[in-house]
Amino acid sequence: MTSTRSDKQIKAGLHRIKVLRAWTWGVWLAFLPLFFLYGIFQIPGWLTIPIGLLWLCSWFVMALISLFSRCPACHNFFFLKGNLLFGNVFTRKCLNCGIPLNYREKKSSKDSVKANGDVHKNIN
Ligand SMILES: [Zn+2]
Repeated sequence: MTSTRSDKQIKAGLHRIKVLRAWTWGVWLAFLPLFFLYGIFQIPGWLTIPIGLLWLCSWFVMALISLFSRCPACHNFFFLKGNLLFGNVFTRKCLNCGIPLNYREKKSSKDSVKANGDVHKNIN
């Protein structure tokens, strides 16, 4: 993979996508605790629709921002394939260049495997 951006910028961009993705799922799953709190605290009926709309709109905006996130490595959409007809919000790697969200961890695990291989070579 060739890139004009540094590894640090790519890692920061991937971290931003990871955080955004976590918040999107968090807001979506907040429905369950909100539902329980609604039952426990006997919230007045006139508040039901505004709270529900607030939750739905905030999730929708977060989902759109997350969906149209740009990959820091290839600058295409991270969760959408080039022509925008194919998308996958569950993917953990860019649909265009294949860079994983846990880019740093993969790289460090490769380095440790390589280091272990070197250790074995040195023993033999
Ligand atoms: Zn990419």
